[in-house]
Amino acid sequence: MESREPNTNLPLGSIIDGASRRQTVEKTTGRESGSKRRPLMKSERDDDSQSSVGKPLLPRTATCPLCGRSGASQLFLNYDRVHRLPGIFGLYRCGGCDAIFIQPWLSEAELARYYPEQYGRFRHSRSLNEKTYTGWQRFVLENYYGYPAPTDHHSSSLKKVVAHLLSFITAKAVIPYRGTGRILDVGCGGGSYLHRLKQWGWDACGVEPSQIGTKQAQSLGLTVRHGMLADARFESEFFDVVRLSNVLEHIRDPIPTFQEIQRILKSDGLVYLTVPNTRSLVFWLFQENWYALETPRHVISYCPRTLEALCRATGFEIARLTFASGPFNFVRSVRYFFEERGKHWPNWLRRIRWDQSKFIRRVLKPCFLIIDGSGYGDFLHATLRKKTARDY
Ligand SMILES: [Zn+2]
Repeated sequence: MESREPNTNLPLGSIIDGASRRQTVEKTTGRESGSKRRPLMKSERDDDSQSSVGKPLLPRTATCPLCGRSGASQLFLNYDRVHRLPGIFGLYRCGGCDAIFIQPWLSEAELARYYPEQYGRFRHSRSLNEKTYTGWQRFVLENYYGYPAPTDHHSSSLKKVVAHLLSFITAKAVIPYRGTGRILDVGCGGGSYLHRLKQWGWDACGVEPSQIGTKQAQSLGLTVRHGMLADARFESEFFDVVRLSNVLEHIRDPIPTFQEIQRILKSDGLVYLTVPNTRSLVFWLFQENWYALETPRHVISYCPRTLEALCRATGFEIARLTFASGPFNFVRSVRYFFEERGKHWPNWLRRIRWDQSKFIRRVLKPCFLIIDGSGYGDFLHATLRKKTARDY
């Protein structure tokens, strides 16, 4: 849920609202209103030095925090649209791996300030108790993902085919059953999904950097270690599956993190990850108003090419890649767009409550199935496996 309340503990810059963002950006960069968009920064030198939050002068180009290539150019400026915390950030695209990353680059402590107590992932899902995957979802779980049925159950070929087809529209991105496999949920937040994995029979364990999220998850009786993945010091080759759902884009040091995953994963283990996809049609349309950008918490944003670069650097390969989206991101991006540029559009269009209309979402839903099928959905789901000596 969004909070319009600024966090007054933050000493950084002024709190800005959507309507005044453009004006603020222009003021801080000395740009005249209405002038042609161009790189805004005073400094012309390549510089990715650790700079202070809210600093209005950003380098024209920057060095990619993922592949280390210099010369990444600035795409646009953005700010925290969800919690309205202070600070203006430049978003830069790397020419080598297509990563989109923020500048100024934030230290761990600076970044932690952008996760207020009301941050969504820290709460238990409202559907935690009632959503136990019944009906068609349960059918797909048992006949496509291999989960055991509560009663005697016969999975025929026909059921398997039907469940496979249904998996494109329901129970998407569920992790296939692996007996009583051991699974680690990295960045498990309040533990809602971990709780479900445990209910489904997994030996489930989590690691969560926030104190609030860790306590919430532990209150559900889950085994969750507080801190970063490397702090947890798991045994080598300990897990069958490591899951990162909407977590990778929050990680400042993805290469050391994936090297650690490589160490703790069994040789036939798999990584399941979900990450916003910058090769998305909605991002192309809305740019800085794309809802999934979530500046500055998403420090590095990914597309398939970026993910390939990360895998190459850490000894993984992409075994499966699918795309998923839905009207959710689109209608919220429309809302952001009208907050920023609404005055140039007809009143009747601005008065539509895009993000609250179930009718609009239902009408749009089929379009997103086509977009996902074409590889331009808002999120990418990837299954990674460890490369073995014969793969090199
Ligand atoms: Zn790069």
